[in-house]
Amino acid sequence: MSSLYFPEESARFQSLLNSLRAKRVAVLGHMRPDGDCIGSQVALCRILHTTVGADAICVNHHTVPRNLQAFVGDTPFLHENDFVPDGHVAVCTDCSDLTRIGKALVARFSSFEGNIDHHLSNSLFARENIVLPSAAAACHMIAAFAFDLGLPLDAVTAQALYVGIVTDTGQFKYPSTTPEVLEISARLVRLGASPQAATASLYEHDSFGRLALLQRFLASLKLYAAGKICIGEIPLGTFEATGTTREDTEGLVDYARCIDGVDVAALLEEMPDGVKGSLRAKDARYRVDQLGKKLNGGGHALAAGFNLEGASLDKDRQRIVDIITTHLSHTDAAE
Ligand code: 5GP
Ligand code: MN
Repeated sequence: MSSLYFPEESARFQSLLNSLRAKRVAVLGHMRPDGDCIGSQVALCRILHTTVGADAICVNHHTVPRNLQAFVGDTPFLHENDFVPDGHVAVCTDCSDLTRIGKALVARFSSFEGNIDHHLSNSLFARENIVLPSAAAACHMIAAFAFDLGLPLDAVTAQALYVGIVTDTGQFKYPSTTPEVLEISARLVRLGASPQAATASLYEHDSFGRLALLQRFLASLKLYAAGKICIGEIPLGTFEATGTTREDTEGLVDYARCIDGVDVAALLEEMPDGVKGSLRAKDARYRVDQLGKKLNGGGHALAAGFNLEGASLDKDRQRIVDIITTHLSHTDAAE
């Protein structure tokens, strides 16, 4: 048995790094970036710098959320409006397809050289696609490649990778938390990652407004399908009323998911131009990635999302509830 985590993919990662030697590289993540997105961008950017001397920079459609800013360190990280392409090639991480990056940013590149991701639904849009749906996080993949290849990782990189693993495993709770994931996390801690610093920034810096948002979300929760589905809403105007932003919705859907008897939970966030949904399941057989697809989105079996352009809660709530209910009844019937 090989002692390497991902021998084949690690070799392909090394080839990707080699092909980017001394190039200008933009490391792209998805819209509404989460811990795994930012962590994997930061780590990949730093690895590109130190191992092959690439002039790498991270660029996203949205800015780095407040609770993740501490993990960027001195890594160059730009909003797309501040990014001036100058012969840059793109490498993407934690992005299942190009729409997740955002049209305006995608349009600025003629070449997508790398795609490092763990989404089952990845559309393999780049020249070199390294996709491992069994991985807990894009950060799990990059950490494993670095260990397999003996690449040096500084403390900022180790911390960024650790943060991505913590967030995408639901703080080491989801079934993706394998012995290998815990072992890799321990190795990152040995290299300088601090679990305490990660938890403090991620989960112990809530604003008072976020608690007001949570109160409203909890008050909106409704059960459907004899208590198997729980849906909560954030109607238009809620952020203004509570002094919060969309970043503050992170984790809210888990309150709906944790109720006894609930199999599938959803958060519906109303925006001026549509409804954004977050979907969560307790069991992978509910395949919320497939449910997300029925609503113009996608994701993982246990955590997925969608974006219905032009939708509103009053107009489309019932349709969304019906799609979720039908999906659940088909899953239950298939048992
Ligand atoms: P969240 O609910 O935290 O926004 O997203 C959970 C997961 O669902 C993300 O990691 C991502 O994989 C997926 N996801 C969220 N929104 C979308 C979307 O609009 N389209 C697709 N394809 N996937 C999404
Ligand atoms: Mn991820």
